[in-house]
Amino acid sequence: MPKLKNISKISSWSKVLAEPLLIAGPCSAESEEQVMQTAIAIAKQNKVKVFRSGIWKPRTRPGNFEGVGEQGLQWLQQVKKETGLLTTVEVANPEHIELAVKYNIDILWVGARTTSNPFSVQKLADSLKGYDKPVMVKNPINPDIQLWVGALERFFKAGIHKLAAIHRGFYPFEATSLRNIPKWEIPIELKSMCHSLPIICDPSHISGNTEFIPEIAQKAMDLNMNGLMIETHINPTAALSDMNQQLTPKQLDDLLDKLIIRSISVKNNDFISVLESLRDKIDSIDQQLLELLSQRMDIVEEIGKYKSKNEVTILQLRRWEKIINTRLKQGKKLGLSEEFIKKLLQLVHKESIQKQTEVMNKIAATKKNKNK
Ligand code: PEP
Ligand code: MN
Repeated sequence: MPKLKNISKISSWSKVLAEPLLIAGPCSAESEEQVMQTAIAIAKQNKVKVFRSGIWKPRTRPGNFEGVGEQGLQWLQQVKKETGLLTTVEVANPEHIELAVKYNIDILWVGARTTSNPFSVQKLADSLKGYDKPVMVKNPINPDIQLWVGALERFFKAGIHKLAAIHRGFYPFEATSLRNIPKWEIPIELKSMCHSLPIICDPSHISGNTEFIPEIAQKAMDLNMNGLMIETHINPTAALSDMNQQLTPKQLDDLLDKLIIRSISVKNNDFISVLESLRDKIDSIDQQLLELLSQRMDIVEEIGKYKSKNEVTILQLRRWEKIINTRLKQGKKLGLSEEFIKKLLQLVHKESIQKQTEVMNKIAATKKNKNK
């Protein structure tokens, strides 16, 4: 297990900026006017600190708009000069880094496709040695936390301590209304591995559609994420990439106005004592749940022995279907969601099968030894 905690030296560079760190700008820089108009409209609102824009676009299939390249960096310099916004671009190879440094881009980010490839990440880390550039690392496309951690470690080892992670969701293998599934447990685990690592949420690439961006952004804030990166375009309907998920500057302004920033805790004694007593109740219920689960597993083992004695298979499909159907109905009556109960039962059933397999294998092995 990588010791991300060892890189707790990660400087809280984002704290230098206001929290939450707000980043906005188009998916891609398309023209000087589009970049400048978007940046000026965003800067006027006085909320966003960093202007994002893709200059080199990683496209899944060839033939799509692949970015304007170096000239876009000049437009970003112009943005900085005219609006005071900091700038950030995606870099995917050492030449990108060289150019981004040449044009004084403030922050670099690594895209989801690049994070997935340790060779590419290592090349980026090597060519960043000696520069004091903050780097934000997007999660890899697949929900592999080790790849994400590994990329952060490669930068850290190269002496880049101004690091942040960007959570942009994971490729969905099943049909979903979101473009990428958030799997919030993964950024939460990353945070618990390294408390000082800022994690920024990218609700645009999670949503894939402007409709879901506000709720994803709010959820990220309620999970104590350190910032948001939101794709914003002066005229999204004419965008050359990610048209459906870009907000207009006005929509961005409305979203940020409605966003509720809750604090981790308050210094209010009443609040603390009520919370503590409710947590005591939860602790006690959890204790009961664990005891009940343990009792259930004891019976599962007993059944395992009984099945073994009678040479009966572990999986009894009819019984399993009956369990699911009855529990779903019972759960519904108790106000528990079908999805939750189904997942919970599947987990319990998997563990039960595992237990019975162990029991049966043990009995079979003893029998074999006796027969020797
Ligand atoms: C982007 O930010 O425009 C982008 C290409 O994102 P991702 O790497 O998350 O797909
Ligand atoms: Mn995009």
